[in-house]
Amino acid sequence: MSIINLTINLHDNKDFIEYVSIESGQPVQQCYQCGKCTAGCPIAFAMDYSPNRIIRMVQLGLKGEVLKSQTIWLCAYCSTCTSRCPRHVNLAQVMDCLRGLARREGVQLKGRAKDIALFYDCFLDTVKDNGKLYELGMMLNYNVKSRNLLKYADTGLAMFRRGKIKFFPTKNKNLKELAEIFKGVKESEEIS
Ligand code: SF4
Repeated sequence: MSIINLTINLHDNKDFIEYVSIESGQPVQQCYQCGKCTAGCPIAFAMDYSPNRIIRMVQLGLKGEVLKSQTIWLCAYCSTCTSRCPRHVNLAQVMDCLRGLARREGVQLKGRAKDIALFYDCFLDTVKDNGKLYELGMMLNYNVKSRNLLKYADTGLAMFRRGKIKFFPTKNKNLKELAEIFKGVKESEEIS
């Protein structure tokens, strides 16, 4: 186990702490570790670090550990934590900010974090192509890219039989405008 000198760490990563506060718009330094967020989180059991630990790690500038954690990808933005926080920290917003930073910094993701990030990418691909969600196309894309062709095949078939998913996509008529939005976001990411 490596030992971390927190004084040096705080000094070296003060930009990270400031960035998370500003970019998420959340008072992360206000957290006093009551743990109410973690107690209410429906998926805390599956996380490598609990939600309150992630906030503490941000306060301490443990950038590498935070950005490599599975937790920031497992957060489903249900906002239970946010509604329980006595210090008005929108923790779901902080998790979103950390995911974005991990992607921008090219952090090598592993395990479930890698799968979830791929799922996000496939979701965006289908929205870009069709202007709306095309479930079958998205799942096929995800299964091919995750090299697990038959993943969720039973569920997909059952949904298809009940008419819950369609065989062919329906396209949004404003695809040109949508392409402009995607282009604008890409450009703004390249600038920041
Ligand atoms: Fe911190 Fe709020 Fe979670 Fe309490 S509920 S540990 S104050 S983020």
